[in-house]
Amino acid sequence: LAREARDIVRTTCAYCGVGCGVLASSDGQGGATVAGDPAHPANFGRLCSKGSALGETLGLEGRLLAPVIGGRPAGWDEALDHVANRFAAIAAAHGPDAIAFYVSGQLLTEDYYVANKLLKGFIGSRHLDTNSRLCMASSVAGHRRAFGSDTVPGTYEDLELADLVVLVGSNLAWCHPVLFQRIAAAREARPDMRVVVVDPRRTATCDIADLHLPLAAGSDVALFNGLLLHLHDTGVVDRRFVDRHTVGLDAALAAARAATPDVAAVARWCGLPAADVARLYAWVAQSERTVTVYSQGVNQSSAGTDKVNAIINTHLLTGRIGRPGMGPFSVTGQPNAMGGREVGALANQLAAHMDYDDPVAIDRVRRFWQAPHLATGAGHKAIDLFRAIGTGEIKAVWVMATNPAVSMPDAGQVVRALQACDFVVVSDFVRDTDTARLAHVLLPAAAWGEKDGTVTNSERRISRQRPLRPAPGLARPDWWALSQIGRRLGYAEAFDYHGPADIFREHARLSAFENDGARAFDIGAVADIPASLYDGLEPFQWPWRAGESGLQQRLFGDGSFHTPDRRGRFVAVTPRPPCHAATEAFPLVLNTGRYRDQWHTMTRTGRTPRLSAHRPVPLLAVHPDDAARFGLADDGLAHIESRWGAAVMRVQTTAEQRPGTVFAPMHWTGVLSAAGRVNEVVNPQADPISGQPELKATPVRVSAV
Ligand code: SF4
Repeated sequence: LAREARDIVRTTCAYCGVGCGVLASSDGQGGATVAGDPAHPANFGRLCSKGSALGETLGLEGRLLAPVIGGRPAGWDEALDHVANRFAAIAAAHGPDAIAFYVSGQLLTEDYYVANKLLKGFIGSRHLDTNSRLCMASSVAGHRRAFGSDTVPGTYEDLELADLVVLVGSNLAWCHPVLFQRIAAAREARPDMRVVVVDPRRTATCDIADLHLPLAAGSDVALFNGLLLHLHDTGVVDRRFVDRHTVGLDAALAAARAATPDVAAVARWCGLPAADVARLYAWVAQSERTVTVYSQGVNQSSAGTDKVNAIINTHLLTGRIGRPGMGPFSVTGQPNAMGGREVGALANQLAAHMDYDDPVAIDRVRRFWQAPHLATGAGHKAIDLFRAIGTGEIKAVWVMATNPAVSMPDAGQVVRALQACDFVVVSDFVRDTDTARLAHVLLPAAAWGEKDGTVTNSERRISRQRPLRPAPGLARPDWWALSQIGRRLGYAEAFDYHGPADIFREHARLSAFENDGARAFDIGAVADIPASLYDGLEPFQWPWRAGESGLQQRLFGDGSFHTPDRRGRFVAVTPRPPCHAATEAFPLVLNTGRYRDQWHTMTRTGRTPRLSAHRPVPLLAVHPDDAARFGLADDGLAHIESRWGAAVMRVQTTAEQRPGTVFAPMHWTGVLSAAGRVNEVVNPQADPISGQPELKATPVRVSAV
């Protein structure tokens, strides 16, 4: 891949999982000009408001430019020695499991890989988890149950080729705007194409919807179990595909029939008009080319994994998977949640799509890394990890590129846990975050525009993120700081990386190591890529095995899955409501999510007034009937309280909110605004399978301030 001019760099956006290609050039004054890359297959030149403002976020104000120990600036050698010595002492006194890493979908794959290798292979702790746990862990678990691997079968092109796109729990217009633009453009070109939005809220995504189903929180399993039955009972079944390539249909049908025998029962479960449910079912039955896109409204639930499987069941029944214009499609929130999954950076994963449940895999990874202390069992998932910090079971934590004091549910518990923790290290590119305030050591990280490595987007496409300029001050890439700790702990050879290309090659080799095709993730074709070609690497989709063309776009269309018998699995699922029901004391259900122009806890998007102008303050969206019931005035202040905590926000009354529910954005922080952290209010209940928290359903009460 040739650079079009010396000063134009082809890179990828720092924000969401669409993974748009960006053409960027430094303006010589600390900023950059930015445009969409017309050649990148994710966006073909498009950018959304956040991506197009990337150049405005590069200023040095607020940057962390040197390590900090106990509040005073320090050099890298002193900081690294201090961290390595504390880790060594804590491991010696309490065992390696007393150390945890909490990492992020904002890390590049190379950072992620070294973090995973260092903690699980050499320090020997099980407790590495990522903020991607909050974003897509239910999809990972659902994919593994159905396909035998964590694999998204389709491509973005399928969303354009479909005759029917069903968006479930996804405000694509705000959260994945370029994908939304692609669907909107396809729909304009083909007016017969239909879009259905399944979401308790009427969002901007509904602007292109032919049908909006504002279902009750947590009732998705009922809706898709009902669809499974309808398709089956009306003969919309790919019998050949089901018989040859799947198992488990009868149990899935029995479970569906028990709770939702007909459309009327589904409508009751979901709080929807039966006619609207019937219309969705008829459209799906008619549309061979159906894609079901799902996101946080599905994943962030105590039944998230079951919701994912209820959706996949309908695609297995109809054989609508892995072929143009059809399939279940999980869209990830962060730019590199997928890369994290690939290196194994979830506490229940090992490495390169290998898990702890396979002793052969554990032995394989141990031999490949020549790891002296390989962890051999799953560690604590995010909620339990911070609980274990709170109880003192975990005595040291290294937080990288994320802000859990704001973004975790029951955020007050997370703050108290970090306050009580013996040793907290935070790597970030900004100095002042709610989490950084609780750190004993701050390490200055390279930021977007300085980082060099790869990311993977929601369609399994690996793209390069390239630097526009050197990192300022003493800021360094996360992989470098991790490698330096590895060396100081006595593992110089294992962490002898001279650049991201070295790490990428090792990651690719591990993906192909003793991989006979049974493991989904394999990028062996680039296992020996020299640094010069790594620099110019074109975006490509995995798997790309050694000797293959690399052009395979879709998976499972041939009916060959990654289970031991190569058959896909129907999973029998039963609808259940959210864990915590509304009560007399807490009569409303709080849903949380994102605004169009903000990203996570605003450490980057909060730096540009243009983006902040979209929604300058966080608003609690309340239906007018509920506002009248609880004495709230439009634009007045509301006190929001749950069993877990409280926050204050300005009220926005809107008929787009389902009565009995309220909505609040997750971005605002204790540092940036007195409005406080909405996650103080949010319950920490998690899906028992995926460990993903139920961020969309917390019983609350509201009152005027
Ligand atoms: Fe960036 Fe996502 Fe917007 Fe693309 S859609 S420009 S990846 S935020």
